[in-house]
Amino acid sequence: MTEAADTVARLRATFDSRVTAPLDWRLAQLRALRRMLVDRGADFERALHDDLRKHPDEARLTEIDVVVAEIDHALRHLRSWLKPKRHPVPLLVAPATATVVREPLGVVLIIAPWNYPVQLSLDPLVAALAAGNTAVLKPSELAPATAAVLHSLLPEFLPEAVAVVTGGADETTELLRERFDHIFFTGGERVGRIVARAAAEHLTPTTLELGGKSPVWVDGSTDLRAAARRIAWGKFMNAGQTCVAPDYVLTTPDLTKRLVDFVGQSVRQFYGADPAQSDSYGRIVSDSQFERLEGLMGAGTAAAVGEPDRSSRFFPPTVLTGIRPTDPVMQQEIFGPILPVVEVPDLDGAIAHIRAGAKPLALYAFTESAGARRRLLRETSSGAVSFGAPSAHLAVPGLPFGGVGASGMGAYHGERGLVTFSHEKAVLSKPLHPDTLRVAYPPFTARKDAIVRRVLGRLR
Ligand code: NAD
Repeated sequence: MTEAADTVARLRATFDSRVTAPLDWRLAQLRALRRMLVDRGADFERALHDDLRKHPDEARLTEIDVVVAEIDHALRHLRSWLKPKRHPVPLLVAPATATVVREPLGVVLIIAPWNYPVQLSLDPLVAALAAGNTAVLKPSELAPATAAVLHSLLPEFLPEAVAVVTGGADETTELLRERFDHIFFTGGERVGRIVARAAAEHLTPTTLELGGKSPVWVDGSTDLRAAARRIAWGKFMNAGQTCVAPDYVLTTPDLTKRLVDFVGQSVRQFYGADPAQSDSYGRIVSDSQFERLEGLMGAGTAAAVGEPDRSSRFFPPTVLTGIRPTDPVMQQEIFGPILPVVEVPDLDGAIAHIRAGAKPLALYAFTESAGARRRLLRETSSGAVSFGAPSAHLAVPGLPFGGVGASGMGAYHGERGLVTFSHEKAVLSKPLHPDTLRVAYPPFTARKDAIVRRVLGRLR
């Protein structure tokens, strides 16, 4: 038996023992996870600094606290989310009761990326445990310090129902040979396809949380300085390595210069004149990512605050203007601190541009025009839309978080996460007497047909 098979067998035995089903067990798991984050928060902060040079406050704000909020939301609502939901029955089936019961799936696999290695490992785990499953977590090998903390702490706080498997492609490939009851993957499109293919072998349902190019529309009705500050915040947080970061700006030529100046001012306010010296500015995760970002420069005119430094993997906050849709930086998800500004004649041009590309994970807009907001909502498709606050939607547990089309399939957070990791079982209960189904039994006669017609008169 391989190690992966062994791990899955152990978790399946736990699941089959029914220990994970009761509400109290689930609440206890969530409380233990919360305790881990509170008691050992400093371990996670240190690891996030080692992996990505995240400032401890940013680590709390964008990772640890987000998971704690997700846990608290689940603790508050889980009882009501699990109540069977009654549905009306049609006349032909009455008298009967029809309900939907949410049942656990079994053993689930969570594969996480490196960019928010705590949040994107543990938020899915909250949903998986709330739904009464056991789970294998595979953190990213590119955030090794965080993976090590998860590997050591999760079995300590959640000994029964969670296993952490560390490693990269080889270990994940081995895991993917096993049969899971759900696979929840966060990462890039390339590996997403590999996961989906492996899942198909076992007909395992998957949630794919992928990336893409999330655009920002800026028009003349907005407060340009305030908009630039929000864009700079969303873009340069974690050195641009955020799946919902604004990827590029779409705006009209008359606004470009002022917008670029305001973004530059915000960068200096956030990180000083030399962001390389700022403890609030992150680093690029690996040499290969650094080289990829260098390869995206070249086209257009760059305004950067600082010089790239390969040895420390410091890549400066950079705005690119004079960019054409065919330039390399517009051909892939940037996933780094480079912000291209693409000029379009008007909102029609922006909508046409967005519609011509793959459906993004998020669409952002800075406009005070209700008409423009309505048109963007109706005429484009994306995982989410946020007016005025890039990335902030994912901190709202009540909002489903996920992509559409190339940016992913399925969603989680809050109740939607519970549904993702549950089977919604239809349950019908009909008394044997009186036997109202008699009209449906053969032989079919004119009299029965008349009764059915009378009952279903409105339908035919
Ligand atoms: P990735 O796809 O390279 O890796 C994700 C996970 O897959 C890691 O755990 C990795 O070990 C594993 N993996 C790598 N190669 C594999 C293989 N051949 N077979 C099986 N598993 C393999 O993604 P990443 O570089 O860690 O993260 C960046 C990407 O993730 C970006 O595209 C970003 O947009 C996306 N992302 C999406 C979200 C979201 O919530 N939608 C969040 C963060 C990141």
